[in-house]
Amino acid sequence: MAAQIISGKEIAQQIRAELTQEVAKLKEKNITPGLGVILVGQDPASISYVSAKEKACDAIGIYSDDNRLSAETSEDELLGLIEKMNNDPKINGILVQLPLPKHINEAKVLLAIAPSKDVDGFHPVNVGRMVIGEKAFLPCTPHGVIQMIKRSGVTLEGAEVVIVGRSNIVGKPLANLLAQKSELGNATVTVCHTRTRNIAAHTLKADIVIAATGYPNTITADMVKEGACVIDVGVNRIEDKTRERGYRLVGDVDFDAVKEKAAFITPVPGGVGPMTITMLLYNTVESAKMANDLL
Ligand code: NAP
Repeated sequence: MAAQIISGKEIAQQIRAELTQEVAKLKEKNITPGLGVILVGQDPASISYVSAKEKACDAIGIYSDDNRLSAETSEDELLGLIEKMNNDPKINGILVQLPLPKHINEAKVLLAIAPSKDVDGFHPVNVGRMVIGEKAFLPCTPHGVIQMIKRSGVTLEGAEVVIVGRSNIVGKPLANLLAQKSELGNATVTVCHTRTRNIAAHTLKADIVIAATGYPNTITADMVKEGACVIDVGVNRIEDKTRERGYRLVGDVDFDAVKEKAAFITPVPGGVGPMTITMLLYNTVESAKMANDLL
């Protein structure tokens, strides 16, 4: 039987509706959550990500402070703007769109963001707090993946989860969260990567397989257990001359074949993607509550 499609679009809409109500309640207390957005340069993909994030803020009532800087902006100028936002009470979250131009040290910039406004959850203070199970801003894509699993009714507690990919923004934090003794975790987690000897030997035992490699067809049907839940984080462009733009987006999973074997599967596009922005909105609202002693 074909798998149930987990729609990231629908789950994201659900969460955004909940956030819209929360923002309305905050506004009754004269609190408007604010997100400071910084884009350096003219990278077309970054421009479209930033515009999507600002539009999403607007739709749920979050104020966004848009800062589009030229590609020649110096590191010092950028650090100065971050410092200003760190001290601005109207700003609850700071988002610096990556990648930054080569002359700017990305790690230094991310470190300059006050941990209390680090709504991407990339600052080492938030990463450390997450690892030891303290309250922290959770990184948006991993948190989005967990919300998708939980809200689809798939059991995490005690589940065997295999994550393929160990990046700092997806695989590693996801593995950590899923292994935590908490309602977002309690799973038994295995992490696979390019040095794993036999990935299929692991994925075939998994109740939940999460692919985050950046390569199409990393997960094929013969690697998945009947009835498993398969979450595809990957976003890859492949040539498609039938499309006006000349390409289409696919994930890391061989969707058509795997959906015949799995019980649940996420599509690309319309899967994890919409969840990532939603969890950024979630963190911004949480930050506004924290700043006003409401948490
Ligand atoms: P990344 O930094 O390039 O990391 C890829 C990871 O996958 C690495 O750990 C690598 O192993 C592993 N890997 C690559 N090929 C593999 C293979 N054939 N078998 C096993 N492991 C393999 O990528 P990322 O930033 O985590 O992103 C992964 C994908 O998710 C990309 O397509 C990206 O566009 C997408 N993404 C989507 C969202 C979203 O919101 N939907 C957000 C973030 C990322 P090694 O460590 O051994 O090199």
